[in-house]
Amino acid sequence: MIFTTEKINQFNALLTNAKKVVITAHKSPDGDSIGSSLALFHYLSKEHGDVSICHPDKAPHFLHWMLGFDEVIAHQENEAQVTQLMQDADLIFCLDYNSPGRIGKMDDLLAKSTAKKIMIDHHRDPAEGFVDLMFSDPQTCSTAQLIYELMEARNDLDKIDRETSEAIYTGLITDTGSFRFSSVTPKTHEIAAHLISNGLHHSTIHENIFDTNTENRIKLTSFALLEKLVVVRDLQTAYISLTQAEQTRFDAQKGDTEGLVNQALSLAGVKMAIFFKESDGIIKISFRSVATIPVNDLARNHFQGGGHRNASGGKFVGKMDDAISKFVTILPNFVEENKSHFE
Ligand code: 5GP
Ligand code: MN
Repeated sequence: MIFTTEKINQFNALLTNAKKVVITAHKSPDGDSIGSSLALFHYLSKEHGDVSICHPDKAPHFLHWMLGFDEVIAHQENEAQVTQLMQDADLIFCLDYNSPGRIGKMDDLLAKSTAKKIMIDHHRDPAEGFVDLMFSDPQTCSTAQLIYELMEARNDLDKIDRETSEAIYTGLITDTGSFRFSSVTPKTHEIAAHLISNGLHHSTIHENIFDTNTENRIKLTSFALLEKLVVVRDLQTAYISLTQAEQTRFDAQKGDTEGLVNQALSLAGVKMAIFFKESDGIIKISFRSVATIPVNDLARNHFQGGGHRNASGGKFVGKMDDAISKFVTILPNFVEENKSHFE
């Protein structure tokens, strides 16, 4: 139980004493960072007059339908406004990230802010000392679930309206592969059941998120699978890479490569999948694994990253070929060291 009475009392005191509240979440927004931000925004707005959402950059199109989405101010697009809001804030929420390095160029604003800070997050190994109150639980599937549990702990479940409900549900399904990852617990389903009992149209949300492909996106995916998938059978690993030029060829938009790495992981006999994506002059790397294979070790030890055991990310500063070479060189050792997990 992370929402203890003592910590909820601290939460209440921080909120009561704050005039201006800002909600932040990690760079490259996903369904959980947007979902948890909007859920908290809709919830707090009922008892607090001045709440804003500031994110490092804008979310992909498949999340723009969300109620209240226009409230999210992206630093990348409105630097002056975000700077002002962060400077004026008395209380800043850090949602769905565990260290200041995850909010890109907003890290400086966070560091300089004199506001009190509350983290609500589910990533492992939260950085110490950058928040005043920490609600961190790596066992929980999504930050959206933690927002629900926060509302529950404050006896506010009756305040869940359509906006809050859709935002929480979005976080749940996007961070759990639609309720299939091992992070899903009975509680996750209980929350979904409660939301649906309250009138949530779950199938519409799935359609809004998963059935809005463009022709270009499907063709980019097809190209990646047909031409760029490499399967290292004996090491039960598959990887895909996409250079900037290849993405440009299919006019790739933000979010278009989301989920591609899971397709590689879906291969029979493959237990680990990697996706290399050239982006802003560096190589962003996504790692996915099954069972107990700790890809976050790989991301942390070799690619300046981290994350969850089965889903992590990192980066390589340099060329695509060199990123792949580095990975291919490391791979046999990693598999050997983690032999028991690959069996
Ligand atoms: P994705 O592959 O979807 O970009 O990221 C999967 C997960 O890996 C994220 O939810 C996040 O926990 C983690 N992650 C991604 N990129 C980074 C990074 O650069 N640093 C750290 N520490 N974690 C990352
Ligand atoms: Mn999350």
